[in-house]
Amino acid sequence: MSLILAIDQGTTSTRAIAFEVRNGDLQPVAVSQIELTQHFPRSGWVEHDAGEIWRATLQTCREAATKAGGAARFSSIGITNQRETAVIWDAATGEPLHRAIVWQDRRTADVTARLTAEGHEPGVQAATGLILDPYFSAAKFAWLLDAIPDGRARARQGEIRLGTIDSWLIWKLTGGRVHATDASNAARTSLMDLETLQWRPDLCALFDVPIEALPDIHACAGLIGETEPSLFGRALPICGSAGDQQAALVGHGALKAGDAKITYGTGAFLVANVGQTPVASTRRLLGTLGYQANGVTAYALEGSIFSAGSAIQWLRDGVGLLGESRQSEAMAQSLPDNGGVYLVPGFTGLGAPWWRPDARGTIVGLTRDAGPAHFVRAALEALAYQTRDLLDALSADGAPPLTTLKVDGGVTANSFAMQFIADICEVEVVRPAFQEMTALGAARLAALGCGLIDDLEARPSEAPAVWRTRMGHEDRQRLLQGWRRAVRAAMVAAGDDGESAR
Ligand code: ADP
Repeated sequence: MSLILAIDQGTTSTRAIAFEVRNGDLQPVAVSQIELTQHFPRSGWVEHDAGEIWRATLQTCREAATKAGGAARFSSIGITNQRETAVIWDAATGEPLHRAIVWQDRRTADVTARLTAEGHEPGVQAATGLILDPYFSAAKFAWLLDAIPDGRARARQGEIRLGTIDSWLIWKLTGGRVHATDASNAARTSLMDLETLQWRPDLCALFDVPIEALPDIHACAGLIGETEPSLFGRALPICGSAGDQQAALVGHGALKAGDAKITYGTGAFLVANVGQTPVASTRRLLGTLGYQANGVTAYALEGSIFSAGSAIQWLRDGVGLLGESRQSEAMAQSLPDNGGVYLVPGFTGLGAPWWRPDARGTIVGLTRDAGPAHFVRAALEALAYQTRDLLDALSADGAPPLTTLKVDGGVTANSFAMQFIADICEVEVVRPAFQEMTALGAARLAALGCGLIDDLEARPSEAPAVWRTRMGHEDRQRLLQGWRRAVRAAMVAAGDDGESAR
C-alpha cells in the first residue's frame, strides 16, 4: 500500500507512472504511455478527442498498475495535466459534447481582443493574475457552449459540465459522481480570483460562462473523490491534482519564495515561487498559483519562451546543420566565442516579457568567418539570453531574489547551454538526476494528500548536476548588449521602430 499512481495527461501523450514511497521520497517503478491524436480542423485551431484521452488514461493506469503488482498495492492517484484545455460534456451520459479545445488554439482571439479593446484587461489581471489571451480557458468554454444547441440554458440547469482536463478525468474516474478541479488548474481559466481561490461571478458574466457548469475548486493535495470500484477492482482515492507546470514546481521541490524551475523542451516555461501573497506583474509575466497544500498557498509568477529546443530542431530538421540535437554541444564548444553572431528565435513571435506575436526569427552579426557552428552556438546562447530577460522581468516585478534555477526537459542534456545559462543569468543551475518532474510532483501531492508523506520536500537519492557562474561581469555585459541589439532588430524586422525593446 505504499504506491502512488500518477496520471500525466500531456498535449502529445497520456502517461501513467507508478511511484513507490521509500525513505520519504518517491521512486518510479512502472510506466505506461499512449500517444494522443492532434486534430487541426482549421488554421489556428487545435482539438483533442476527450473520449480518446479518457480511454488512454484508463488503459495506461491499468497497465502501470499491473506492472507494479496490481491496484491493491496503491494508496492513491495523483493527476497532472496539460493546462487551459477546455472540455464540455453531458452530465447525464458522461459523453463529450464536442472535441476539447486545446490550449494552443487561437479561435477565440477575437473575443479576448474585444474585451481588451473594451478596457477589461486591468480588471481581469488584478483579479486573476492573467492577461487577456485566447490561451486561457474562459473564452474557450463560452465558444463550446455556443456550439451546443441551448448550451447555456442546459448548463444553467446542470445538464452540461465544463472543465479542464483534470476535471474531465476526475469526473470519469469517479463514475460521474465528482465534478472538481484544483486551484492550480482553476487559476488558468481567467475565472478564479487568485486571492480567494473561488470562481468570480463577475468574470463568469464577462465571459458568458454559467458558474453552475463549473467544477468545485479543491486544494492540490487532499481527498478529491474515489474512483468507481469497477475501474480498478477497488475504489482508489484521488488525493492530488495540479496543472503540469505547477506539478513540476512541486516535483523540483521549489517550495520557498525565490525558488524557481524552468522546463527547457520545445518551448521553455519558467515558474517562480513568490511566496504566500500574489505578486502583480507590471512586466506581463503571469500571476498564478504555485500550489495549495498542507495549509500553504504558494503563489508564482510565470513566463514562457516560445522557442527553446525548437531552435535546435529547426537547425537540425529545417536547415540540416545537425544530424542530431546533441551534436549542438560539441559544435558550440568548437568556437572560442559567438563571434558577434546572435539568433533571436522569434519563429512564432516572442513570448514574455516582450509578447510580440508579430516578431520573427532574426540572425544578426554575420561576417564571412561565420559558419555552421556560429548558428548552432547562437541558438544555444539564445536560451540563456531569453531566460535572463524573464529573470530581469521577475526582479523588476519585485519577486524575491532568485539564487537557484531548477531545470528539466530535453535541452538540459546540453552542458554547454546549462553553463552558459549559469553565466548569463548569474544563478546556480541545478538539474536533478530524475527528470520526470511533472509526474513526480503529482505523485508527491497525492502521497501528501493520503498521508504517506508529511511534507512536499524533495529528498532525491541521487545528487543533481550543478553549474555555477564563472563568467566575468564585463563579458556578460558585452554579450547582453549584443543580445538586446539583436532583439531590437527582430522587432524592426516585424515593422516596429525597435523602441519597445529598449
Ligand atoms: P517536449 O516535452 O517539449 O517535447 P523535450 O523535453 O522532450 O521537449 O525536449 C526536446 C527538445 O530538446 C527538442 O527541441 C530537441 O531539439 C532538444 N534537445 C534534445 N537534446 C538536446 C541537446 N543535447 N542539446 C540541445 N537541445 C536538445
